[in-house]
Amino acid sequence: MDKKDYYEVLGVSKDASASEIKSAFRKLAKKYHPDVSKEPDAAEKFKEAQEAYAVLSDEEKRRQYDQFGHAAFNNNGAGGYDFSGFDFSDIFSDLFGGGFSSFGGFSGSRGSRAQKGRDTVVRVDLDFDEAVFGTKKTINLTLNESCDSCDGQGGHGVTTCDKCHGSGTVTTEQHTLFGAFMTKTTCDKCGGSGKSYEHECKTCRGTGRIKKNKDIEVTVPAGVDTGNQLRISGKGEAGINGGPNGDIYLEFYVKKHPLFERAGNDIYLELPITVAEAALGCKKRVPTLTGEITLSIPAGSESNDKHRVRGKGVEDVNSYRKGDMYIILKVIIPKKLSREQKKLFEQLSKTGLDSGKEFKKIEDYLK
Ligand SMILES: [Zn+2]
Ligand SMILES: [Zn+2]
Repeated sequence: MDKKDYYEVLGVSKDASASEIKSAFRKLAKKYHPDVSKEPDAAEKFKEAQEAYAVLSDEEKRRQYDQFGHAAFNNNGAGGYDFSGFDFSDIFSDLFGGGFSSFGGFSGSRGSRAQKGRDTVVRVDLDFDEAVFGTKKTINLTLNESCDSCDGQGGHGVTTCDKCHGSGTVTTEQHTLFGAFMTKTTCDKCGGSGKSYEHECKTCRGTGRIKKNKDIEVTVPAGVDTGNQLRISGKGEAGINGGPNGDIYLEFYVKKHPLFERAGNDIYLELPITVAEAALGCKKRVPTLTGEITLSIPAGSESNDKHRVRGKGVEDVNSYRKGDMYIILKVIIPKKLSREQKKLFEQLSKTGLDSGKEFKKIEDYLK
């Protein structure tokens, strides 16, 4: 069987640089990966490309190939380079996302690779004032942490795993249409660490990790709002195989205030006033986030009139700028009148309150 030239397979010149070779392979992998390609001969093309890349991306192998051609790897009679030990997982995971593996080759042995611990999201309920002014909170969490009894090792008296002989992976042969392929999976005996122990740790049952309940102190900055997240770096679950700890994300939920309504960094307050106050004007005591103020309401005010008080809103969580406070007037029309009030309103009614031009418009129309 005539084998195609590896450079030809990747479509690069004999003096192509390592990055040219990599990008040529990425293109082919994207086109022919059997899990995504619709081309009829995708599997064969993909295998060819993998083989070519496995050789040409390795300096030493490439030198041998340049010198001897396919004969360089032909000693087993099968023809071509056996690329089954080559780890494509980096290219595939960045092309297709995790979960894809090389076809007919090995998938990367993730088992023994350092992994960041899982991130943890914690809901934190805050009172309105706690969110506005910031606070300190103690958060209780249960996290997977490194086991103290075995120092995260899973046991004592380290020996090499007898199932995978320390590689962390086991190889099985798979027969398919295209021939026999080797599949590599994480060793189930050692979980990919390649190690086993004379005495398995009883505390963590060999996993090296145990659930721990702990309190963490957090400082909630002023100005957080519902849905805001705060990341606490490196305080999450323990990493795997020496990887860094995960992060904790605090997600805030802010309770409603009985008076104040918050919109971003602004605060809204509905302020009830009487008919007389609206007509005559008045001074009103008004609560704000930081003590009370006196608001002058001019004569002739109406419902929904808006008064802005600068800087009486919430401090921005990312800067020291403050939002504003808006006071919205609501003229309350009495629903029940005492005898005296009724008399006064009747008298008032005869004083020509309806002489304004708004009333005239309707009267004119009715004539
Ligand atoms: Zn093993
Ligand atoms: Zn342990």
